[in-house]
Amino acid sequence: MVLFVTGRCHRTCWYCPLSRERKGRDVVFANEREVSSPTEAIEVAESMSALGTGITGGEPLLVLDRVVEYARRLKDHFGPDHQIHLYTGLPPDEDALRRMQGPVDEIRLHPPHESWPRILETNFARSAVLARRMGFLIGIEVPALPGIGALAAALPLLDFLNINELEWGETCAAAMRERGLELTDGLHNAVLGASRWAEELPADPKVHFCSSSFKDSVQLRERLKRIAANTARPFEEVTDDGTVVYGVLEPAGDLDGFLKSLDKDDYAVCDGRVEMAWWVLADESAGLPGRKYVVERYPNGGMIVEVTPLDVANED
Ligand code: SF4
Repeated sequence: MVLFVTGRCHRTCWYCPLSRERKGRDVVFANEREVSSPTEAIEVAESMSALGTGITGGEPLLVLDRVVEYARRLKDHFGPDHQIHLYTGLPPDEDALRRMQGPVDEIRLHPPHESWPRILETNFARSAVLARRMGFLIGIEVPALPGIGALAAALPLLDFLNINELEWGETCAAAMRERGLELTDGLHNAVLGASRWAEELPADPKVHFCSSSFKDSVQLRERLKRIAANTARPFEEVTDDGTVVYGVLEPAGDLDGFLKSLDKDDYAVCDGRVEMAWWVLADESAGLPGRKYVVERYPNGGMIVEVTPLDVANED
């Protein structure tokens, strides 16, 4: 689960990917749902059988009490194996590390771009040494930007160095254009040439590159599949992409006989519509008056991907 603990941040990175809805606002989101308590965040984690949580922001260390409270509640609920990692653009000092020791397992530092050439002289390097000594897994996670090769100097202090392909965002588009950057194509968020900057880094097992398309497609798909497995109704088909598919009948006549022939779990009546397995609707279509179509959507009442009128679905 991704736990966004605040949209406030002390920095103004030109490539900041935060959306307008979150940037600068002191709000908490568990995945896409705004929450107001650890209990609600636990519900979201339950709905996807989360194995771990990534705490992010904004700057999580600006709300350290909140970080510790949510992380502790998640650990208490799911047990010590629920892995919790924290992203931060601040180098945590010994006091902050002590407070996170236990609830947080791993820290992912995001030092500012201008500090990269002298990374070993920064407080980020000092934090890394301290955190490792205190038993945290410690690494750096930054977007691929020119000059990233300088971070190789910090590898001996780290457990990992994660590089994310630089992504175009609605709030940083103007800053990207000012720097002469452009999108790779019209389909993806990746910035042209960004993956090449990561080639400045040595082929070291501690270095991991995460492409924008991997993040977009593979991680999202895995998350959807987990949510679908927990929330799909018995008559919904779960696809390989993690979406769910079901049939909808907007009846134009009496259905009592038909509904009696079904098991209670085989359908649901929602706002006058009858939702059921798409193949049942397709098989019985001729005898059922009304509008019929097949819906594919993200699980748990999520975004609708496609609506196919049933006659067309039958032709397919
Ligand atoms: S540290 Fe992160 S949240 Fe803060 S401005 Fe930079 S990219 Fe945005």
